[in-house]
Amino acid sequence: MHLYVHVPFCARRCSYCDFAIAVRREVPSRAFVDAVLAEWRMWQDDPALEHVTSLGTVYFGGGTPSKLEPDSIGRLLDGLRALRTVDAGAEVTLEANPEDVSPTAVASWRAAGVNRVSLGVQSFQPAVLAWMHRTHDPSAVHRAVATLRDGGIRDLSIDLIFAVPDTLQRDWAFDLDAAIALAPEHLSVYGLTVEPGTPLGRWTARAEVEPAPDDRYAAEFLLAHQRLTAAGFEHYEVSNYGRAGFRARHNSAYWRRVPFIGLGPSAHSGFGRRRRWNVSAWAAYERAAMAGRPVVEAEELLDDAQVRLEELYLGLRTVEGLPAALLPSPAAWREAGWAELRGDRVALTAEGWLRLDALVRSAA
Ligand code: SF4
Repeated sequence: MHLYVHVPFCARRCSYCDFAIAVRREVPSRAFVDAVLAEWRMWQDDPALEHVTSLGTVYFGGGTPSKLEPDSIGRLLDGLRALRTVDAGAEVTLEANPEDVSPTAVASWRAAGVNRVSLGVQSFQPAVLAWMHRTHDPSAVHRAVATLRDGGIRDLSIDLIFAVPDTLQRDWAFDLDAAIALAPEHLSVYGLTVEPGTPLGRWTARAEVEPAPDDRYAAEFLLAHQRLTAAGFEHYEVSNYGRAGFRARHNSAYWRRVPFIGLGPSAHSGFGRRRRWNVSAWAAYERAAMAGRPVVEAEELLDDAQVRLEELYLGLRTVEGLPAALLPSPAAWREAGWAELRGDRVALTAEGWLRLDALVRSAA
């Protein structure tokens, strides 16, 4: 069983972000820990946990978990461990923004058991960071990485975003090289998408911003593939690269459809065909959790067609791919350069991952 904790607080909303967040100048760390542990206690009677003795990974995501008072992570992990064992070798990840990384914070996180940090970098170019409404500048990234290394973090992941609008004149190769120079163990590389309800969505609707054209999106995706694989990273999932032995174990569990529990506002949980998700507003979540009432907003049972779609979509994201027998036209995909046949399995190439949605639709 794998556990995700959604920490919804952020200093401000990034221009592209449609996550369930709560913008707060002062983060209610203590109240958050109390509410999440109250939800965790309610989970203990759930049949999904009946045969679960221990947790293989714990992931603090958000939002911005690094905005919590540093000792909150220790309180959360102690509270989780009080009711279920966290495996001795568990991967414990914390998402952090560069400006929150201080020697004191890193020492608290390490003492609590955090052994992996995912740093929200996105770009090393000030104009791009400002346009994204990020709250750090490039120098903060270098300070943060040095502080994390000094504090004993041996598994560091860096997030980058590509395909920003032409008008920003972003040098994508420069950002890739700057990330490689920091020697992380892992990188997550995401294409910018325009979501309604975000500042970027509004700018685009008003024609103030033109999204990156498809050909540049493809060129930047492929440049990342070339540069990072040449630098020794394995491109093991459509958006993720790792050095040998440093794949993200928590996210890999999602892609293998292993059961997972999500705690916190808007967090999702899934076991087999069952999916459920929590209320997303922090205040409503806190009220329900502290009153001992369910924090679940809704749940669903996937039908056969939905399960097949999920298997296709998750399986084809990774280098392990899927058994050829599950796909209607693997030979045609291989001839087009979109897939490789490995034994009885089919794995998409980087060219294939560019067409992931269309290929999944055609195979469903
Ligand atoms: S820090 Fe992350 S979660 Fe918060 S607004 Fe920015 S992208 Fe969204």
